[in-house]
Parts: sequence; structure tokens; C-alpha cells
Amino acid sequence: MNTVTVDVAKKTVSVGGGAVWKDVDEKAAKYGLAAVGGTVNHTGVGGLTLGGGYGWLSGEHGLTIDNLLAATVVLADGTMVRASATEHEDLYWALRGAGYNFGVVTEFVFQAHDQPNPIWSGIVAFTPDKLEAVIDSLNATVQNPDPRSGAMCIFAQPPGAPGPMVNVLVFYNGTREEGERRFAQLLALGPVVNTIAVIPYEQLNGLQNPMATYGGRKSFKGVYFQPPLNTKFIRGVFEEFCALNAAHEDLTPAILLEFYDMRKTCSVPLASTAFANRSPSLNGLLNLRWNDESKDGFYRGWARELQAKFKAQFDAQVGAGTGDVPQYINYAEPGDVVVNNIYGENFPRLQKVKAQYDPTNVFSKMHPIVKRD
Ligand SMILES: Cc1cc2nc3c(=O)[nH]c(=O)nc-3n(C[C@H](O)[C@H](O)[C@H](O)COP(=O)(O)OP(=O)(O)OC[C@H]3O[C@@H](n4cnc5c(N)ncnc54)[C@H](O)[C@@H]3O)c2cc1C
Repeated sequence: MNTVTVDVAKKTVSVGGGAVWKDVDEKAAKYGLAAVGGTVNHTGVGGLTLGGGYGWLSGEHGLTIDNLLAATVVLADGTMVRASATEHEDLYWALRGAGYNFGVVTEFVFQAHDQPNPIWSGIVAFTPDKLEAVIDSLNATVQNPDPRSGAMCIFAQPPGAPGPMVNVLVFYNGTREEGERRFAQLLALGPVVNTIAVIPYEQLNGLQNPMATYGGRKSFKGVYFQPPLNTKFIRGVFEEFCALNAAHEDLTPAILLEFYDMRKTCSVPLASTAFANRSPSLNGLLNLRWNDESKDGFYRGWARELQAKFKAQFDAQVGAGTGDVPQYINYAEPGDVVVNNIYGENFPRLQKVKAQYDPTNVFSKMHPIVKRD
């Protein structure tokens, strides 16, 4: 279930339903190819793809599902079908964004892309007084988008640091000179740590692995924001984050804010796949990790409150009730602020496809397609 085979002539990769992205990145790289996968390479291909999926290559090539050519699926009644643009088209449509609801995918076939060159990436860390300037520079990259580039701002306390730092993971699919030119404003702010290097593509999605380890108790909550990210708002978030971090020694918290070029993702019509979140809003994550079970409620409650503040900020900036779905489904958990509307305007068609392929609702663990009032 974790095998990966490459068709060099067609530039496609066929991936077992149990593979992780490391399997794909490493195999494709042997042929000078890359697929649009996640930014932490021990994430599963299955869940990430079925909920849309994106990563560093999305600026150039769109979502993971926008590169999904076919899937082999075992349905609830045990039959095995292939879904593609010409076979079981309704299922193919539904798998791309609501895919955990229809069966077990045993194989995904992705369009891969030429990736002959190494890439420019690494972490630059700034002291907290630089927060506004860092965010200004990242906002500027979104205002002047480049599909080959992306960045993540990460609030976290690196090992050995006296407190939380403003860390930025930068990416440029090109040379050192191109990367440095692209992020000149950020680099001019004087990072106290700089790990940027030119590395093979297949190493890129391993860079965050030391921060995304197994074990412990965790809360993983998605937030969203409208660029340009408001610096006054984010200063308040950072202060809250620092207070939480200082008060709880057993806690390892991090907040991630993504700055990607969304144009390619937004260029695909909303109704052409089940994925409901094609909008220029950007995503973030509240990641908390601890060991003491008795603190579950407190930490999850803290994250939920902060999530609501992000939503309030977004609504104030954009206007509530637009009908759009700004929440990324793969970053959403039950109890999150907009989960009731996670499929947006694609929901009625999803109900029909669900009735056809899984009428007894066998596949219902993750964002189930259930009748709403
Ligand atoms: C550390 C970390 C980093 C992340 N980075 C990114 C990122 O860069 N980009 C991004 O888009 N998302 C990212 N995510 C979110 C990620 O997409 C979701 O957490 C996703 O659910 C992970 O899928 P999984 O298969 O690993 O998880 P699982 O929990 O195993 O699966 C999630 C759901 O998918 C179903 N599923 C999994 N495989 C199959 C299959 N073959 N057939 C049918 N159903 C299946 C499962 O039953 C479950 O309902 C990240 C998550 C983590 C924890």
C-alpha cells in the first residue's frame, strides 16, 4: 500500500493508498520529477489528497487534487472502481475535496512535474521586536506574488532560545540569487539565525520534521486570515502566545501562518471539484503539544478561543456571511468555527454522490456528509 511507481514518459506517479509523502518525493526525484504534496513528509498521501492538499509547489501547480488524474477505490459494498475524468466522473469529482466519505483509495495517480533543479529554503529567526516588520515583508510577497515562492511564519521557542521567536521558513524554487532577491526585504531585517541553503527538492519537506514529531497529546486547529495580515492583530496574538508559553512548562506550542501564492488554486472553478476553499484567504495552524491528560480541556479551549479571534478579525476585514468557505478542510476539527459549512455550495451535489456510492454511510469519520437543517 505504500509503493510508488513512476511513468517517466507520461510524468505520472502511481501511489499506494498508505504511502506518506516522503515515499513520493524520494521516488519521483530519482527521475527529476516532483508531485504537489504536503510540507511535512511523514503526512499521509491519503488524507492530505482527499481533503484537497497543498504545499510548496502549489503556487506553480495548484492543489494536490488539481494534479490527481485517477484513483482506485474500494467502495462500501466491496466493489472496486476507478475514478477519473472518464470513469465514475461523479466519484472523481467528490473524491477531490470530500474524499474521506466514499471508500478506501488503494491507488492515486498524480501528474508530476519536472523538478530538475535544487531549491532554496531554510529558516530565518527574528527577535520579537521585529514581528511587525517581518509580517509587512511577508504581506509584500503576497501583494507581489511569485508562483515559485512561499513562506511560513512560525511563532515558536527554538531550543536554547530564552523565549518565543518569530521564525520564517522560506522557499524559492530556483537559485540562491533568485531566493535572496525575492526575500530581500525579510533578510534585511537581520535574522539572528539563518539556516537557508540550496538543497535537493526531496529534502525540502523534511525540514519541518523536527517540529512535527510523533507522540504526546495534541491540538491541531486551523485558522484563516485575509492578506494583508493586520500587524496590530497579530501582535496581540503573539503576546497571547508568549503568555501561554511562559505559564505552562509542559506545553510546546507553535502558531504557523502561511504566505502562499493562491492564484493557481483560485483559477480552478469552485464547482469543478468538491473542494470548497478556493479563495485568496490564507491558512494558519495552532499547534499545541503536551503530556498531561488533565490539561486537555484547557489547552483545547485556549486554541478554540484564539481560532474564534482569527475568525472575528477575518469577518471584520472581509465581511461575514459571504457564502465562501475560508476554512481549509484538512485543518478543521469538529467544534471548529465554520465546520458546519465546510463543503459550501458543493454540499447538495455531494449528498447525491454519497447516496449513490455509500448509502449506508460507512465512511463517516472525517467531516461526514450528513443532512443539515
Ligand atoms: C504535521 C502536519 C503537517 C501538515 N502539513 C500539511 C500541508 O503541508 N498541506 C496540507 O494540505 N495539509 C497538511 N496537513 C494536514 C493534513 O492534510 C491532514 O492532517 C490529513 O488528514 C492528513 O492525512 P493522513 O492520511 O496523514 O491522516 P489520517 O488521519 O490517517 O487520515 C485522515 C482521513 O483520511 C482518511 N484516509 C487516509 N488515507 C485514505 C485512503 N487511502 N483512502 C480513504 N481514506 C483515507 C482517513 O480514514 C481519515 O478519515 C498537515 C498535518 C500535519 C499533522
